[in-house]
Amino acid sequence: MNEVRTRYAPSPTGYMHIGNLRTALYEYLIAKKFKGKFILRIEDTDQERLVEDSLEVIYKTLELVGIKYDEGPYFQSERLDIYKPYAEQLVEKGEAYYCFCTKDRLDTLRKKQEEAGEFAHYDYNCRNLAKEEIDEKLKHNQQYVIRQKMPLAGETTFDDVVYGNIKVDNSELEDQILLKTDGFPTYNFANVVDDHLMNITHVVRGSEYLSSTPKYNLLYNSFGWEIPTYVHLPLILNEEGHKLSKRLGDKSFEDLLEEGYLVEAVINFIALLGWSPGDEREFFTLKELEENFTIEGISKSPSVFDKTKLKWMNAEYIRKMDLIKFAELIKNQIIGEIGNELDYIKIAKLLQKRVELLTEVESYLGVFKSVAEYSSELYIHKKMKTDQEIALSSLQLAIKRLTELDENQYTEEILHDTLISLAAEQGLKNGQLLWPLRVALTGTEQSPGGAIELIEIFGKSKSINRINEAIGKLMKGE
Ligand code: GLU
Repeated sequence: MNEVRTRYAPSPTGYMHIGNLRTALYEYLIAKKFKGKFILRIEDTDQERLVEDSLEVIYKTLELVGIKYDEGPYFQSERLDIYKPYAEQLVEKGEAYYCFCTKDRLDTLRKKQEEAGEFAHYDYNCRNLAKEEIDEKLKHNQQYVIRQKMPLAGETTFDDVVYGNIKVDNSELEDQILLKTDGFPTYNFANVVDDHLMNITHVVRGSEYLSSTPKYNLLYNSFGWEIPTYVHLPLILNEEGHKLSKRLGDKSFEDLLEEGYLVEAVINFIALLGWSPGDEREFFTLKELEENFTIEGISKSPSVFDKTKLKWMNAEYIRKMDLIKFAELIKNQIIGEIGNELDYIKIAKLLQKRVELLTEVESYLGVFKSVAEYSSELYIHKKMKTDQEIALSSLQLAIKRLTELDENQYTEEILHDTLISLAAEQGLKNGQLLWPLRVALTGTEQSPGGAIELIEIFGKSKSINRINEAIGKLMKGE
């Protein structure tokens, strides 16, 4: 088998949506799977539609995800001289022709067709011009485009690995422009010429390109070039059943990261939008995808971008992450919010069990800054069997014991043993000691983590201060 070569060929005309990223990922994975090459080609012939920054987004995204290209980036705008001779070659072969129709003529034609309720299409006006007429017009430098000469009858068939054998009536295919008046290739033409010149073996792209593929296929045939393996990918729908679109509020990759999703989780999730490993397995690192991905596992039925599942997956990734790595990710958030005084790694350890998105971190940090305003009614807790009175005596017992511990004994284990044995000695239920402590330390019943975890984080003096203040408040009957 020839070396497998795939390419990601984005047009830098907008933001990178989830479908684009999935295409890039699958192309990369197919190349990896077959130990081939993955190429980046920027399809920027349509200079009017270029969007500033979109290139940066492409580079940054591939880098963040860990998709490395073996060749490129190639820019079609830097290869413009290449395409024209190929278009002329087709004219010589009788597979394409010069078209001298003016813009005015084409506009009028389109209007007429629209008024008659027809699809706008070229009417073959220049398809059969006599050679002398063509030479004459060329001699007078009349502007022209080169159009592909589609067969007028019969059908074109091609095979797609995912969608199977596809047939189209040639009568449906328009004589599309290959070379524009300014000598630039159209996007469709440059795409085919480059796929051939770059020896691309697998063309992977969204199924919205299925309808253009017959035209591409005819071009390969006209040139006598080998047709690549087509791998069209299923639609991605949002939960309302519409095709994902920024306009409908669907998120780009960047948006998702801003919302607090992890790169690894998003990539894992995107990999499964249209591909399945054939068993129940759901978690894959990029490396594991490289080893396990199969073209056969790609499905043709649309996949739904299920945000609930993405969030669940993200939470799972957070839980499984190495603590230090997680702590580094949220370090700036923690320090920005509460300063340097507490150990951010300990806080991260607590939050790692709780947050589903990185952006949720901030909402948990309040208690580390200050005790919330609270009334002592918070000590009344039926299930924990506590009230203000029990709270007061529990806090007094606890503070005594906590004062006896050295700073370096403020570890979860020792604190646990100390407080649990204190409760036992005093004939208290654990909750009768721990609930009042939690309230005293935070002023809220919804603190992240229980008393023991919090005391470990606060350390000796801060814990004792907070408990002392709570005792004072209780004694004053506040
Ligand atoms: N430039 C096209 C796009 O951005 C790529 C189409 C293809 O992969 O053939 O969608």
